[in-house]
Amino acid sequence: MMKQHQAHRSPLDLAGVGIGPFNLSLAAHLDAVDELEARFFDQSASFSWHPGMMLPDVTLQTSFLKDLVSATHPVSPWSFLSYLVANRRFYAFLNADFPAIPRQEFASYLAWVAAGLPGLQFGAQVREVDFDGYAFAVRLDNETFSARNLALGVGLKPATPDFIDRLRPGAAFHSSRAAFEIDRCAGKRVAVIGGGQSGAEIVLNLLGRGAGAPAHVDWISMRPNFLPLDETPFTNELFTPPYVASFHSLPEARRHTTVEREKLAGDGVSAETLAAIYRRLYVLRHLESGGPSADLLPHREVINAEPRDNGCQLIMRNGMDGQVDIRKADILVLATGYRYELPPCLAPLAGRIDLDRSGRPRPGPDFAVRWDGPASARIFALNAGLLSHGIAEPQLSLMAWRSAVIANALAQRQVFDVERPEAMVQWLDAMPHEAEAGGQA
Ligand SMILES: Cc1cc2nc3c(=O)[nH]c(=O)nc-3n(C[C@H](O)[C@H](O)[C@H](O)COP(=O)(O)OP(=O)(O)OC[C@H]3O[C@@H](n4cnc5c(N)ncnc54)[C@H](O)[C@@H]3O)c2cc1C
Repeated sequence: MMKQHQAHRSPLDLAGVGIGPFNLSLAAHLDAVDELEARFFDQSASFSWHPGMMLPDVTLQTSFLKDLVSATHPVSPWSFLSYLVANRRFYAFLNADFPAIPRQEFASYLAWVAAGLPGLQFGAQVREVDFDGYAFAVRLDNETFSARNLALGVGLKPATPDFIDRLRPGAAFHSSRAAFEIDRCAGKRVAVIGGGQSGAEIVLNLLGRGAGAPAHVDWISMRPNFLPLDETPFTNELFTPPYVASFHSLPEARRHTTVEREKLAGDGVSAETLAAIYRRLYVLRHLESGGPSADLLPHREVINAEPRDNGCQLIMRNGMDGQVDIRKADILVLATGYRYELPPCLAPLAGRIDLDRSGRPRPGPDFAVRWDGPASARIFALNAGLLSHGIAEPQLSLMAWRSAVIANALAQRQVFDVERPEAMVQWLDAMPHEAEAGGQA
């Protein structure tokens, strides 16, 4: 049964800043907890999942079973299966038998949930959050909400190299804007910087644009080769609650080195995308004439870019032989990833939140960050815990589990079963205590 949303009373038990998949999953869990009143705010006019990377034919890198709720609340009306049934496409979806489902399909599922779930407010930018000693004051343009707890689900910010500030406007765009800007690449020399999934999807798209294709594509990666996402079973164990519990129990310095070592488990390119790029290059090189030329440049660190003519000159160090390479490009596509930033609306509280050396808050086992306010006023941070909870944190894989842990913490009872399943791998000799892993509400 869907919860009947009560008329707003003050203060809320929880105010959510941002409605991406992560806070949406939390909202879907809280919808099943009658005693809690929550409200979530997003600055966008309506739900939209990374619209700037919604290129044709892109696919989800995770199983659709890792949806907003199924791992922890499979009877929820907000599961992917409920979406298929409600939209009369259950049988067709099964028959299509996608090896990886279209990202558009998952985005459409998320938008369906966002349209049906009560307590979500779009077109509502949170301008400022302050604390009056008892509750948070969450200020929008024309309203202020009072809430006992906060959930920060504001996502990550595009990470760009410093040198782009020196380039002329329009000479570069970040991958998060690709769908809006990619048409500008027609007939140009384009350099795509970044050897992860976004860079790969953009290169594949550029090479297949027919009449609108660029004249030339350079694909530059700092990694020593164009490396695949590792999707084998023991690597997938890194995306399970027992692994997160083991990781969380490590000292901070060891967590930093572990995350670095595990990068390709979350950031590599899917094998299908790599194969599609290779095949497209083969066709362009041997079977078709008139398409774009392309150079693949792994093991290159771009150390600078300077304005030249209408574009720029890239200076790179080749990690294989240590030499400096120079290339010209009309347009740079920066598939350079994302970084965590405490949202500007938190400025009144910023000095009170304990940050690690990378500027991230420190989420505890229940995702509440360390700050100097009373223990009854918690700030839950979602997608902030790469260094506290590991490489699963920015992915969809454990979002339902994280939401269930937070919902239990808010309700102060075990509403959802978040007992750790038996681990397939014994990561540590002494497993951390259940409560430290968020196992107890
Ligand atoms: C192109 C792309 C594809 C991905 N595909 C996968 C995948 O296949 N599998 C996987 O596991 N992971 C994937 N990820 C990683 C991850 O699942 C997504 O980035 C996911 O969207 C993160 O969700 P989020 O809720 O933290 O943030 P976001 O989706 O970024 O949402 C944050 C929201 O907060 C809002 N906001 C920010 N500040 C405010 C404010 N002050 N007031 C109000 N609203 C605010 C924004 O408008 C936004 O809607 C992908 C990431 C990208 C970039």
